Amino acid sequence: MEKDKILELFKSTGALQHGHFRLTSGLHSSEYFQCAKVLQYPQYNELLCGDIFRHFHDWRVELVVAPAIGGIMVGQEVARQLRVRGVFAEREDKTMSLRRGFEVKPGERVLVCEDVVTTGGSVLEVVELVKARGGVVVGVASIVDRSREPINFGAEFFPLLKMEVPVYQPESCPLCKENVPIVKPGSRKLDASTK
Ligand code: ZN
Repeated sequence: MEKDKILELFKSTGALQHGHFRLTSGLHSSEYFQCAKVLQYPQYNELLCGDIFRHFHDWRVELVVAPAIGGIMVGQEVARQLRVRGVFAEREDKTMSLRRGFEVKPGERVLVCEDVVTTGGSVLEVVELVKARGGVVVGVASIVDRSREPINFGAEFFPLLKMEVPVYQPESCPLCKENVPIVKPGSRKLDASTK
């Protein structure tokens, strides 16, 4: 899919919103992105993951592993299209682990799938987890790449869309200066103050 088409899909489903937001980090932004809003439509998930499928379909992938929770829908759909097993890793006492009887077989060729990569921390943990079980990570795929610096996953990284998100310190936020009401993402409540 072309970049414009993907962005259009993000906007029409409300996954990408413009305004004045206070992010969980405390920073302010003029954009907010919630990938689940687009992935909740199976037909769009199928479309987006189709690009990941086409990129990796002849890489002899045998297993897709996704970090929970964000990566699950992407991992499942990519695994479905590749006709391979799809599992997810989840945090147990803060450590990424495979539960529920999920397995990585020694030598198995693994594709790691995520919805949004920001720092790449969760994906890196999954990569290490797969390697520790003798799996071979052949690639990492994500719908969106929001990283600010290149991340070395030790395998090819294939994001569908690189999205730079403008963030500001509250003190130097231009939207605050214009008194634009601020919204905490995920809630419809407007904050009375601008900070
Ligand atoms: Zn602001």
